[in-house]
Amino acid sequence: MAKRALVIGVNGQDGAYLAKFLLDRGYSVIGAVRRTSTRNLRRLAELGIENDIELCDLELSEFGSIIPTLQRAEPDEIYNLASQSFVAMSFEEIHAGTADALRTTRLLDAIRQSGKSIRYYQASTSEMFGRAQETPQSERTPFRPRNPYAVSKLYAHWITVIYRESCGLFTSSGILFNHESPLRGQEYVTRKVTLGLAKIKHGELDVLEIGNLDSKRDWGFAGDYVEGMWRMLQQEQPDDYVLATGVTHSVRDLVAVAGECLGFRIEWQGAGEAECGIDRKSGRTIVKVNPRFYRPAEAVVLCGNPAKAESLLGWQRQISFPTLIAMMAESDDRRVRDKQVLM
Ligand code: NAP
Repeated sequence: MAKRALVIGVNGQDGAYLAKFLLDRGYSVIGAVRRTSTRNLRRLAELGIENDIELCDLELSEFGSIIPTLQRAEPDEIYNLASQSFVAMSFEEIHAGTADALRTTRLLDAIRQSGKSIRYYQASTSEMFGRAQETPQSERTPFRPRNPYAVSKLYAHWITVIYRESCGLFTSSGILFNHESPLRGQEYVTRKVTLGLAKIKHGELDVLEIGNLDSKRDWGFAGDYVEGMWRMLQQEQPDDYVLATGVTHSVRDLVAVAGECLGFRIEWQGAGEAECGIDRKSGRTIVKVNPRFYRPAEAVVLCGNPAKAESLLGWQRQISFPTLIAMMAESDDRRVRDKQVLM
């Protein structure tokens, strides 16, 4: 019989790629979405799978809605991807930024009360390392979170470990470094850059305003990372794993690579807040620094060590940084050119 997977947050970036990955492996996928008046399935539609998934409403803020959902869905595996994961927002909407902790606890306790042997994946984050004590960061690096989102995720991470160690549940946690794709939300810097430059190319925007150009991130491709999530749940024993590329790139590199894909040759002039990017071909200023987009407390440069996942899970990423940015730039170029509704 086909395995059944409940993907919570199925219409997010990772949820959509994971659902596609599981369907391709013969799973029945039940996609849990929060109740809203209009259902937004644009990411699933972009991957051509919106009709292949059984959808169900799930409010993780209501314990009473979780148990009936588990009874109806009868999942072998649960992937908990639901989160308000934009760091800057977690300072502005304290409730949204801190809700992960309680939602995860309710979900784990519902699994415990169901008495079923369900395998559970928790979406943890490299943001938990925050002011990291060592580089690169691995499963053994101490956590020093620096924003409300990271603290809430850290609670969710530890409660996942506690339900594994104290209640005997099969719970694994993936400590994932940044992963991007053409389905990334527009609020994230990679997408902001590819979409902004595509709009400039098609005359819909004059200048891309950006925060700290020297910020560095360990960026991978979401499609590679969802395979790692699945591999974690296929092991004999549950455990925690870092998924990362082990290489960092600056926002400046990101802008240059995306610019090149879209036909610009960007040269940097000035320094600090006065720095700007000029397109050498047209002589126009197309990128400006705006301190409004600086983070309140930057994490130190986070760079992950994926050695454990590579050796124990056999996980290997396929897509390099330039290929990833080219994929994103090309899809935004097409969306803006064809005046598609943007996701
Ligand atoms: P995403 O695109 O923002 O998707 C998040 C999903 O969570 C969406 O489906 C969203 O539903 C849902 N959601 C948001 N708030 C919710 C709430 N209050 N109740 C129920 N559902 C809610 O994020 P992603 O990039 O796919 O990330 C998936 C998970 O991995 C998240 O938990 C994130 O924190 C974690 N993570 C991501 C990265 C990364 O670089 N992408 C790195 C480390 C960890 P709507 O569609 O209704 O908005």
